[in-house]
Amino acid sequence: MKVGKFQIDIIETGRFGLDGGAMFGVVPKVLWERAYAPADSRNRIPMAAKAMLVRWADKVILVDTGNSPEMPDKLKDIYGLDFTQYSLEKSLNDIGVNAADVTDVILTHLHFDHCGGATKKLDNGGSQSLETFVPTFVNARYYVQRKHYEWALKPTEKDKASFMPENYMPLIEHGVLEFLDGPGEVFPGIRVDLAHGHTQALQMVTVSDASATVFYPADLMPTGAHIAIPYGMGYDNFPLTTIAEKKIVLPRIIEERWIVIFEHDALRIGARIIQGPKGPVLEEMQLMVD
Ligand SMILES: [Zn+2]
Repeated sequence: MKVGKFQIDIIETGRFGLDGGAMFGVVPKVLWERAYAPADSRNRIPMAAKAMLVRWADKVILVDTGNSPEMPDKLKDIYGLDFTQYSLEKSLNDIGVNAADVTDVILTHLHFDHCGGATKKLDNGGSQSLETFVPTFVNARYYVQRKHYEWALKPTEKDKASFMPENYMPLIEHGVLEFLDGPGEVFPGIRVDLAHGHTQALQMVTVSDASATVFYPADLMPTGAHIAIPYGMGYDNFPLTTIAEKKIVLPRIIEERWIVIFEHDALRIGARIIQGPKGPVLEEMQLMVD
């Protein structure tokens, strides 16, 4: 899609599956299965990990990088990682972009399903040791909030399992990770705002010009079903903060007709949101995954 001078592409990086109960917190299964999708025999629901590519002039900016194809086999099985249909590299190539063309990578946060593609293994050996990983995008600067990085170094027992150092420590080692302090414009027309309910200092990305705004809230609203206020994730560190943050951002999304991209939604790419009788609902006309 085109937003003013920006060419924006939402690209698939591979599919996976997460426990449906964990994805919908206190919401009963009969309700979330109806609002989203049925679970498989291991109670996992289909998940996408969609990156956003923003291009203009000589800038090629990637927002998030999906899961790592080099995750250990045991975890690949638990999370149902599937790169048969999509991969980050394939999806970039499909729109004429090579890894070396990417100039900047904004990481919303360092959970493995958002930054897994930020690094890659030098060889195909079995070792997950940090030295065997290098930045995937050799010409890019990477951006994360400093407060979030500090959190990742000392995560809570709740989100510890979501951090895999091989996804981001090599970025530091190679001197390509830049720390941002707080919200603001990262490039003209592209800004980050912070949410702290899911994890400390998650970056939500907004791309806008006078004609339209595209909003990438990452794990504040991972699927279209999560726009309902109580539909929060069991994974959230601070569930009440997530509720408060959704209540702040949703009226603006509705009022200003923002297009919201749902990073993990396996069914839809994004949608505008309208006010329904009982709360925010997705506009009927949506950008669906083919
Ligand atoms: Zn997350």
